[in-house]
Amino acid sequence: MSSLPAIFISHGSPMLALEQDAPAHHFLCRLAELFPRPQAILAISAHWETPEPALSLAEQPATIHDFRGFPPALFAMRYPAPGAPALARRAGELLAQAGIRAFGSADRGLDHGAWTPLTLAFPDADIPVTQLSVQPDRDAGWHARIGAALRPLRDEGVLILGSGSFTHNLMEMRYQAPDAPVPDWVNQFADWMRGALLEGRQDAALDWLRQAPEARRNHPTTEHLLPLFVAMGAGTPGIPARLLHSSTDRVILAMDAFAFD
Ligand code: ZN
Repeated sequence: MSSLPAIFISHGSPMLALEQDAPAHHFLCRLAELFPRPQAILAISAHWETPEPALSLAEQPATIHDFRGFPPALFAMRYPAPGAPALARRAGELLAQAGIRAFGSADRGLDHGAWTPLTLAFPDADIPVTQLSVQPDRDAGWHARIGAALRPLRDEGVLILGSGSFTHNLMEMRYQAPDAPVPDWVNQFADWMRGALLEGRQDAALDWLRQAPEARRNHPTTEHLLPLFVAMGAGTPGIPARLLHSSTDRVILAMDAFAFD
C-alpha cells in the first residue's frame, strides 16, 4: 500500500460548504484526486478543544452544527459517514507508545471543522472517519509530537487531515469591506509561514509565536493553527511541505493547504 500524505486544509467559514464560487470550495472538491483513496480518515479539527488528546469512538458520528447565525440550508446538511472506532483505538495505541495519553469519547460527532471540508472532498460519505482533538494550552511542538506518533497510519491507508485556518482573526473580519485588499498584516504572516513550511524550516515554524510577523494578530487564539502542526509532524522528517492551495476568503482568512509527504 502506498503511503498517503498528511494534509492540512483551511476550512474557512462554514458557508464554504455552499459557496461554489469560492476558490477554496473548488480546491476542496478536487482534493481527493491528489492521493490514493483512503480507507479511513483521522480528522484533527480546530473545533474540538480538550485539555488532553481525545479520540471519537462513535460508530455513527452525528453531524454537529456548532455555529450560529447561518442559513437553514447549512443546518440541514448532514455528513453521514460511518465512524472509525477501530482507527481511534489504533491511534490511541500509537500515542501511548509515544508517551502521550489519549482519551476515548464514546459519542463525539463531527464538528464543522471536519464535516464541511469532508462534504466537498468526499461527498459520498462512505469512508469511515474519526476525530482527534487539539490542546490549545499546549504548543506547536506538542502537536507535532502527536503527528509524529501517528505517522505510521499513513502506511495503513489512513488520511491524516488537519483542519484549521492559516490565518484566523474573526474579530477583525467584522470590520472588513467585502472587496477590500488583503491587509499587509495577513500577507506578512502567511508569506512567512508558507516560506518556512515550503523550505522545510520546521523549527522556525514551530517557534511561530516568537518568529512569525503579526503572529498574535492573525491568531489571537492558537486553536486554528494547531492542526497544521499535527499534519506537519506526521510528515517524513526532512521533506519540505508541498503547497496544495492558496487563496483568501472574507479578506483576512488565508486558505492555504499543504501536503506533508
Ligand atoms: Zn473554524
